[in-house]
Parts: sequence; structure tokens; C-alpha cells
Amino acid sequence: MKKIPMKNPIVEMDGDEMTRVLWKLIKDELLLPYINLKTDYYDLGLKNRDRTDDEVTLEAASATLKHKVAVKCATITPNADRVLEYGLKKMYKSPNGTIRAALDGTVFRKPIVVKGIEPAVKYWNKPITIARHAYGDIYKDSEIRIPDKGTVSMTYVPDEGDELSAVKVFHFDSPGVVLGMYNTDDSIRKFAKSCFDYALETKQDLWFSTKDTISKTYDHRFKDIFNEEYENSYKASFEEKGIFYFYTLIDDAIARVMKSEGGFLWALKNYDGDVISDMVSSAFGSLAMMTSVLVSPSGCYEYEAAHGTVQRHYYKYLKGERTSTNSVATIFAWTGALKKRAEFDDNNRLKEFAELLEEVTKQTIEDGEMTGDLARITSNPKPVVLNSDEFIQAIKRRLEDRIEEI
Ligand code: NAP
Ligand code: MG
Repeated sequence: MKKIPMKNPIVEMDGDEMTRVLWKLIKDELLLPYINLKTDYYDLGLKNRDRTDDEVTLEAASATLKHKVAVKCATITPNADRVLEYGLKKMYKSPNGTIRAALDGTVFRKPIVVKGIEPAVKYWNKPITIARHAYGDIYKDSEIRIPDKGTVSMTYVPDEGDELSAVKVFHFDSPGVVLGMYNTDDSIRKFAKSCFDYALETKQDLWFSTKDTISKTYDHRFKDIFNEEYENSYKASFEEKGIFYFYTLIDDAIARVMKSEGGFLWALKNYDGDVISDMVSSAFGSLAMMTSVLVSPSGCYEYEAAHGTVQRHYYKYLKGERTSTNSVATIFAWTGALKKRAEFDDNNRLKEFAELLEEVTKQTIEDGEMTGDLARITSNPKPVVLNSDEFIQAIKRRLEDRIEEI
């Protein structure tokens, strides 16, 4: 077979530990033999981030703004232990946080559904995609521990003019805690737009939920901005595609989701999305079966697996032991990026290849060959448990069988 050519590159961000091991295997076995892979490579492994004072992360983010499509391997976010383990110059910030800040995007997380790995909620037969607003709220809050009696108030001081506005938050008669958080219309609007665009692109209904009945100014602002965007810019295209936008209170949404059959996009505020995406992913089976894509308002796409670097498996690997680490989400990060590149470059063979790779990956599991994490939860009575290499080889065999189709 003649290798598939690529017109423009994908930004490739290499990473750490077990996922770095899988990354190389996936490229060597499943991509390079079939594609003349063009990537703009950045090594975001912790050692190289340290060597470059984390400049490499910023460079990778700017390259993403330039080339529009990126794929990222999981990376270590250093804590005190990692500073010692790697002898780091400092405790660098999360690369994902840095990239998100540069791209200003929304994170969409979607489970990969295969037969034999049934969701814990029996009605769900289509994936539920979570769109998490990745800016502000408690992730950028200010908090005070109140030691004793006293009043807390909130004051807005305009940069120009001297019209102060203040509200009393609470008068404490005894010790307690207080929290102040914010968001901006601009960020909320970009979040809304990415959600409406993604719903249109994937032809799915969009749900959005907050607690606006209780938070009559804060959460209500989110609700109003979503409504404005829908009415002014998206209603006609939604109607044309036969999909709908639906707002409801978060508690009502949760009750409805549990009884739904899935197959929609669920937009959530930052904290809600953080918490609920972990629940939804584990209810669909495994964190290793969840893809994640960061979509920026300027039309850039960064694909990755939703899980981390699988540190525990890596330490076994370093000792020469065999691991059974699931590479599905990392494979789907690559296919997501290849499909988007194919769409931008009008490269039909590349699109077909990525779709075939996804199909044979799912087929491998449906045929009963899988890694340990899935073997523990499958409804298949006799799964064959493969190690990390064997699983990729099992996918490759099926790919080889069908590669001439494209
Ligand atoms: P993790 O890497 O997601 O792994 C947690 C556990 O989940 C693993 O020990 C394993 O369970 C299971 N697991 C996750 N992915 C798996 C896979 N592909 N195949 C099989 N099992 C899998 O989370 P962590 O151990 O908390 O974090 C490790 C490092 O990853 C940290 O340094 C963290 O900073 C980083 N991290 C990076 C990202 C990112 O780059 N997007 C996201 C999260 C965390 P068993 O051990 O029970 O087999
Ligand atoms: Mg979380």
C-alpha cells in the first residue's frame, strides 16, 4: 500500500511515563507504516520542560494557534514529590492549564462506547459528551478564613469614576470561611459559542444547566448569555439541522440525564464539569475509554486522552514487568487529530484511515481481546487479557487485514 500523504502538519506534544511509552508504540506500529506523518514535534516530557524553563509548552501552544490541530500525550503536573524525583528547578504549572490559557477554549469529553463494556446506567446507549467551561469560578477564587466576629462585604471599585458599589455578604458571630469568585461575559460568551458550534458540528442536541434560581445574578448571567447567543446566532442553524438547545436547572438535568438514552452534548460550568465528567466517564466504563478535545473560539483543536500518565504502571514497566495499559484513548486522540487535519486539508484517504483505525480498535475489544482494566468490567464472559504491546499488535493485525480498503 502507498503511504497516505499529508499536506499540513499536526502539532505533536509528547509527554511522560507510561503514556510516553504507548505514544511511541502507537506511532511506530499503527501510524508510521501507513501515513507519511507530518508533525511539528514538541517534547513536553517533564525533563524537557525543566530544561527549557517550560518555554516548550508555550511554543507548543503557539504552534497550535498556527497549525490549528494538535495531539497531546498525557504529562506530569509536578507536585513536591515530582520536584524531588526529577530534580526540577521549580514546580511548573500544569501544561494543560498553560495551553488552555493560550487557546482560551472549552474542553469536550466523550466516552468511547464499545459492545461488551456496558454503561452502569442501563438506559445510556449513546455517548454523553461533557463540555466544561475551563475559566474562572472557584479555580480562580479568593478565600478567607474568618477568625472571629466581624462583617464581610464585597466592593466593586471602578477604574474610572468613583461610584463604589458594595454588598454585605455576612456578619459573623463566630469563626467561619468566605469565598469570592468571578467570571467574565467575554469568557462565558466564548464558552457558549464553542458549545453551539460543537453541537452543530457533531449534530447533537445541546443541554446547559446551572443553578440560576438560587444564583440569580451569577448563574443567571450564564443562562442569559447562552440564550442571547442561541436566539441571535444559532437558532436558525439548529432548526435546519433538526437539533435543539435546552436549558434546565442542574438538579433537573441530572435527574433527566440518568433516564436519558444519551447522545447529546451537556454544557457545564467549571466545577460542575470537573465533577460530573469524572462521574460520567466512570459510569461509561473507564477513564481509559474517554477522549478529550480542547476547542478554541478561533477554531483550533487539541486532542488528548482524558487520563493521566498512569504512573503506577510505569514504575512496573521500569522494573521490567509487563503492564496491561489501555491505549484506546491515546489512539483516539491521534485519530481525532488526523480526522480534523483531513477535514481542513480535504484529505479523504487520511480521514478514511483514521476512521478505520477507530473501527478496528473497537473491534478488537468487541472480539474479546482487551487490557486488564476492561477485562475487569466487561460483560464478555471470557475476555482475553493482553499486555500493552499485545493489545496494540492485536489492533494492528485487524488494521493489516483491512488496510487495502482505503
Ligand atoms: P492516571 O494516570 O489517570 O491513573 C490513575 C489510575 O487509573 C491508574 O493507576 C490506573 O489504575 C487507571 N488508569 C488510568 N489510565 C489507564 C490506562 N490507560 N490503562 C489502564 N489503567 C488506567 O492518574 P494519576 O495516577 O492520578 O496521575 C498520574 C500523573 O498523570 C500525575 O503526575 C498527573 O499530574 C498526571 N495527569 C495528567 C493529565 C493530563 O496530562 N491530561 C491528566 C491527569 C493526570 P490501576 O493503577 O488501578 O491500574
Ligand atoms: Mg476532575
